[in-house]
Amino acid sequence: MIRDVMALANQEYDLIVVGGGIFGICAAWDATLRGLSVALVEQDDFGHATSANHFKVVHGGIRYLQHGDVYRVRESSAERSAFLRIAPHLVRPMPFIIPTYGHGMKGKAVMRAALLLYDLLTFDRNRGIKDSRNHIPSGKMMSTHDLLEMFPNLERKGLTGAAIFHDGQMYNPPRLSLAFTQAAAAAGAHVANYMRVTKLIRKGNRIIGVKAQDRLSGDLLEVRGRVVLNATGPWAKWLLEPGSDLALKRDPSFSRDAYFVVKKRLVRDHALSVQGQTKDPDAFLSRGNRHLFLVPWRGYTLIGVWHVVHEGKPDTFTVTPQDLQGFLDEINVSYPGVNLTLDDVSMWNAGLTLFGENKPGAVDLSYGKRSIVVDHAQDHQVEGLITLIGVRFTTARGIAEKAVNLVFDKLGKEAPRSKTAVTPIHGGNFDSFDHLLYKANQQRPLTLSTDVMTALLQNYGAAYGEVLQIANENPALAETVGDSTVVKAEIIHAVRAEMAQN
Ligand SMILES: Cc1cc2nc3c(=O)[nH]c(=O)nc-3n(C[C@H](O)[C@H](O)[C@H](O)COP(=O)(O)OP(=O)(O)OC[C@H]3O[C@@H](n4cnc5c(N)ncnc54)[C@H](O)[C@@H]3O)c2cc1C
Repeated sequence: MIRDVMALANQEYDLIVVGGGIFGICAAWDATLRGLSVALVEQDDFGHATSANHFKVVHGGIRYLQHGDVYRVRESSAERSAFLRIAPHLVRPMPFIIPTYGHGMKGKAVMRAALLLYDLLTFDRNRGIKDSRNHIPSGKMMSTHDLLEMFPNLERKGLTGAAIFHDGQMYNPPRLSLAFTQAAAAAGAHVANYMRVTKLIRKGNRIIGVKAQDRLSGDLLEVRGRVVLNATGPWAKWLLEPGSDLALKRDPSFSRDAYFVVKKRLVRDHALSVQGQTKDPDAFLSRGNRHLFLVPWRGYTLIGVWHVVHEGKPDTFTVTPQDLQGFLDEINVSYPGVNLTLDDVSMWNAGLTLFGENKPGAVDLSYGKRSIVVDHAQDHQVEGLITLIGVRFTTARGIAEKAVNLVFDKLGKEAPRSKTAVTPIHGGNFDSFDHLLYKANQQRPLTLSTDVMTALLQNYGAAYGEVLQIANENPALAETVGDSTVVKAEIIHAVRAEMAQN
């Protein structure tokens, strides 16, 4: 992947994608694969923002059963299957455990029925997934005894057992975004990071390109395109300039979602759901208080997620020590015995997600449940501009597909079928991870442990040889950085082949 900023100014593209989060990247990959000429510009590192700071879950949609939303159950399950198929190194199934209490909505009978219904609705979930380790099993129930052996700290009053279902988990979200970007670049997209779009270029009632600034050199340039896709997520309304005639008709409201990371294995191989202390505001079949999750991830535990309305520009949010103390207080009550303090917190992650529509004196929560694709020709009679604000990393591929269909519409071309649900992204082209690992271990330099080799394969999949080649050229680069599983050769590779700028 070579950064060639000047090339961007030399042609008129079919599509300019502004914003290299997962939604923009997926749109660039899909449009390129379907034969369009595409430029993708990102103001920072690819996938650095919301797309790097989420909870790493590829949702299979079971939670939408309690909202009675069968469409979203099917949509999420299909997108989880796509990730397990096209990025088998970076996404794996993760079992989630939900304890059951009493005989009502939180009871065993309701959960058993929910698992059965979910299995039926997602009967095709393993279709086309070659690697059987990535298959999603049926849900099942668990006895109180087995549950308490795994999680002795659980509230015991009224406990009747638990339900187990599987979602997907991302091993390394930034690498997942990068692998999509690499696939797009290899297919012919012109991609550039550290390139900020400062303005849309308008001629009459048509957007004809963007003005951009190279943040590395300071140079200004114009990129011309027949269609511009504003995929800047939380920045989308700011790129359109609030108050201008392109401002979104429904003013999106964002919430700051956050979780924290503990360097302890509070849970081992299963994620655990516990009831938080506040209610889920929009569950149709309410199971009581909303869920908080403790999720195992690479030797750490992720705990979250907390939501609070954010007003103002996207770059202004933070998580204060007081916020963190509030999170700790809630989890210590919800899962007694963990007794976490601020000293246990290694880091927090947070970002902004679409949450509703700002209306005088209130937020309309019906807006923001689903991703938004706005055709500005319809809303503002301005051609050549589409805005996309997505709500879940999980659905980015599918929503990007819809946005690209609209791009073809704008170009007056018939849209070929999208192939992104079945085409492996960079490193994803293999049938069995275990077989790939077995082969890789046979060529393993002696300085690399099997743990490091496994991490290398989870990050790079079938493309691990790109890193190994650098390590083989210079044995000093086959060492790891500190006590991490990162090999020094990965850094050289990131600079040479992945557009790392700093
Ligand atoms: C705490 C938290 C937990 C979450 N958990 C999950 C989860 O477990 N599973 C799930 O599926 N989803 C989850 N989500 C939601 C998910 O993270 C988002 O839906 C998704 O990452 C949004 O991607 P995006 O591409 O729209 O936005 P972003 O990733 O924010 O990308 C927008 C990009 O646009 C760029 N940009 C902005 N302005 C400009 C400009 N002028 N010029 C050039 N580039 C620009 C930005 O730099 C940024 O990289 C979670 C979100 C949060 C915050």
